[in-house]
Parts: sequence; C-alpha cells; structure tokens
Amino acid sequence: MAILADCHMHSHHSGDSDASMESMIESAINAGLETISFTEHQDFDYPKSPEGETEFCDENSFMLNADSYLYELLSMREKYKGKIRIEFGLEVGLQQSCVKKNLIFCKDHEYDFIIASLHVVGGKDPYYKSFFEGRSEKEALTEYFKEYYENIKKFHNFDVLGHLDYLVRYFPSGNHEYNYSEYGDIIDEIFKHLIENEKGIEINTKAMSKGMKEFHPCMAALKRYRELGGEIVTVGSDAHKPENIADHFDKVPDVLKEAGFKYYCIYENRLPEYHKL
Ligand SMILES: [Zn+2]
Ligand SMILES: [Zn+2]
Repeated sequence: MAILADCHMHSHHSGDSDASMESMIESAINAGLETISFTEHQDFDYPKSPEGETEFCDENSFMLNADSYLYELLSMREKYKGKIRIEFGLEVGLQQSCVKKNLIFCKDHEYDFIIASLHVVGGKDPYYKSFFEGRSEKEALTEYFKEYYENIKKFHNFDVLGHLDYLVRYFPSGNHEYNYSEYGDIIDEIFKHLIENEKGIEINTKAMSKGMKEFHPCMAALKRYRELGGEIVTVGSDAHKPENIADHFDKVPDVLKEAGFKYYCIYENRLPEYHKL
C-alpha cells in the first residue's frame, strides 16, 4: 500500500517557511494523500546566528503564534472538508533550558500530534559550520544523541521523536553516513525510553531530498527500534514548500517492511492509528 499521510510539514506559521497552508494542502491532494499533519516549529531559546552568516536568526525566529495557526487551520479544515484530513500538529524544539516552557506551550492547545526534535545542541544550531569547530564529527554526533536522551528523560509531552540522526545532514566532510554500531548503546537507551513510554519515531524523508542515500533515521536504526519492540512510526516529508510534499514516499513501504514493520501510524487527538503497509 502507498503511504497516504504526510505527517511532518510546515507553512508560513513556521519561521523558515513562506508557504501558504492552502498551497501545501493543494499539493497534498494532488499527491493523492488522504491525511496531512501540519507540524509548525516552536523553538524557545533559539540561538542568535553566528557572526558573518547571511541569514539572521535569534530567539524570536521560531516562536509560533499558535492561536493564529489554529485559526487558519480550522478554516482550512472547513474549506477542504471531504477532500483531505488536516491534523493540528507541532514540532517542538527540545532544549534542556526550556523544558518547562515547552511543557506549558504544548498544554496550551489541543494538538493532534507533537513531534519532539533536537535542533539546538549546547546552545548552537548544527546548521551552521561553527557547530563542528574543535570537534570531530563522531564527537558531535555522540553529543547529539546524548542530548536527545537527556531531553526526552525530562520532557514527555510528545508523540514521536523527530529525525533522529539528522545531524549527519550537516557533517562538514560532506559524508552523510555513519557507523551505526559506534552509537548503538546510546541509541538503544533512546529507543528503550521511547518504547517504555509508548512513544514512536518518524521516518523523515527530507534526507533523500538533500541527496542522502537513506532516510532519517537510517535502516540500521529502524531495524533496531523494531527489534526492541518499537511499533510506532509516522512518515513525514518535512516539506517547507508545496513541491516537497510526500517526497520519496514511494520508497517508504519497502524500507519499513525491510526493517520489520507491518504498519505506519497517523496521529489524531494524540492517539496513533495503525495503517497497513
Ligand atoms: Zn526539525
Ligand atoms: Zn520540521
């Protein structure tokens, strides 16, 4: 079966997208999708861009106006009733410094779906090369996974962990593969914690749109999560533009089946629905 839901996408309500909700929805309908989840960014304490960078960001860049987001989403739901199901989702940026703020923010609205993602490590965004200064890619990736683990032990109000190994996207060497076994212990801790707490992971297909050979997370991680008993996996393109919706979704069923999954999930009212692959 084809994947009929894109559960990770952004619109102009996120600081790094200019897309109208309407253009995203139209594109999803054209792609044959039955369900989409908008998952707009909320990142508290986002760091100021390093000196010399052309794009400027600061602590306000990824602050979501959840009320206007919900207001527009509800009008879109009305407009596209019977054509596509539109879920009210959130991608919340994890940082140990803002656990409390995130908890309050997430409780403030009745989201259908919450993805927890790590975009900032030690006060720095790996999107910028300066993140890697003074350390190897291996050290950076180890810190990244450890930071994920520390955060999910403190912050619980989410459904799936976003793009688990996305740091590799920014490796300065341009090599985006990593030896999974070198990080197996810490990733096991993450997976065990998620499974015990009935939370899932996502397949984020944006990696392939960036020219990488595998999705986030890689096949070795998907297999291990399944082996440990993990069953919840959502599928998302992480599109910030209409043309990227459902990117590479044709490859997802085979990848998931190879990893041992029989279902993918869609969240509504914070509960997973299981759909056959
Ligand atoms: Zn993200
Ligand atoms: Zn995203």
